[in-house]
Amino acid sequence: MRTVLIDDDTLALRLLALQLQHLGYGNITQCARPHEALALLESEFETIGLVFCDLQMPDIDGVQFVRHLARIGYRGNMVLVSGEDERILQTVRKLAQAHHIDVLGTLQKPFSLTQLQQVLLDTAARALLKPQSVHRTYTIDELQRAIDEGELVNYYQPKVSMATGALVGVETLVRWQRPTVGLVMPDQFISRAEEYGLIDDLTRVVLATAIRQAQLWRDNGLDLHIAINVSMDNLAALNFPDVVAQLARDSGVAPTQVVLEVTESRLMHDPCAALDVLTRLRLKRIGLSIDDFGTGHSSLAQLRDIPFDELKLDRSFINGASHDSGLRAIVEPTLDMARHLGMRTVAEGIETRDDWDLLRTCGCDVAQGYFIGRPMPAAELPAWHSSWAQRWQEMNAAA
Ligand code: C2E
Ligand code: MG
Ligand code: MG
Repeated sequence: MRTVLIDDDTLALRLLALQLQHLGYGNITQCARPHEALALLESEFETIGLVFCDLQMPDIDGVQFVRHLARIGYRGNMVLVSGEDERILQTVRKLAQAHHIDVLGTLQKPFSLTQLQQVLLDTAARALLKPQSVHRTYTIDELQRAIDEGELVNYYQPKVSMATGALVGVETLVRWQRPTVGLVMPDQFISRAEEYGLIDDLTRVVLATAIRQAQLWRDNGLDLHIAINVSMDNLAALNFPDVVAQLARDSGVAPTQVVLEVTESRLMHDPCAALDVLTRLRLKRIGLSIDDFGTGHSSLAQLRDIPFDELKLDRSFINGASHDSGLRAIVEPTLDMARHLGMRTVAEGIETRDDWDLLRTCGCDVAQGYFIGRPMPAAELPAWHSSWAQRWQEMNAAA
């Protein structure tokens, strides 16, 4: 695999290349212009296994670079290099992780050969642990068939009240059950569906199945909010609110039980077009949640102007917050702000008891994450529910 180095400082670039060669790395490409590097990554990303990127460059900075990598679906490894302090490196690392890019190390300039070697050793070790998720580009026909032939399966992840432990709702997360291949995760096909103009069809299938499921649960005594992820492109269709309301009506599900999760980073690209549809959804009493909050670029004013009723703080800020004062400095004021705007707060990605305790102390309303329960097929929810009730009692008895 090829290694690509990006730094506008050509001296630093040459030095890093020499150090890597010394450590036995061949097949190194040096780029002093980030745009060239992006073009190369875009056309040949399957041959590139490792990228070293400087954070401070004149025409595009490291944060923008990471965003571009996410857009082109880069799946290799990354090492961040910077003369900035360690905190900035760590923040960019979190951002990259929020975009599902694995940053396997950070190097603060100037660094020694030994430090470089350590990062590479960690990189090699972690690459071995990483499942080989080969990035495959699905064709429009494959995706169309998946939608038409019912190969999309909804998984549901529980959302529980932090105050009472009650199961308040589920988030619908779509998977693609490919015959003979297995489950494909949404990050491998949602953006393709958007590109191919298939996202309206896909969302409709996910939505209809989820709403029918909510009806089945209600018939069995479980009254749940059902959240569905929608894409920005769904909000471009002016009749979208009517489609959602109709599906809910057909199943006898109250519109207030349906929550649409919109990702903040995509939302802000075209706030005006979306505002019409979002406002009509609210008028129809359909719930609106701003997803992955903290990873996008919305200003507080935009947050005030768009009628969301739920804010989901991105898991990159939640995960490890109990042991990281920097993360708490983001989490606490964000929760306060949401409360002042009258929004329900949801912490996603709670994986540990420590993070659960912290978020509960901060007054977060709802929790979601592996600590509570993983996304699961609908049939597994009742069994999970009983085991959660048991765990909740134990957690509180011990407290
Ligand atoms: P999201 O809406 O932010 O969903 C949360 C993601 O975090 C899910 O990944 C979930 O499995 C994962 N997760 C939940 N708890 C934890 C935890 O404690 N630790 C960790 N590490 N991860 C956790 P998943 O299912 O792979 O979905 C990825 C993204 O794909 C979703 O992010 C959402 O943006 C998108 N997506 C999923 N289903 C749909 C859909 O039907 N339509 C659209 N447009 N997007 C979808
Ligand atoms: Mg979501
Ligand atoms: Mg999220």
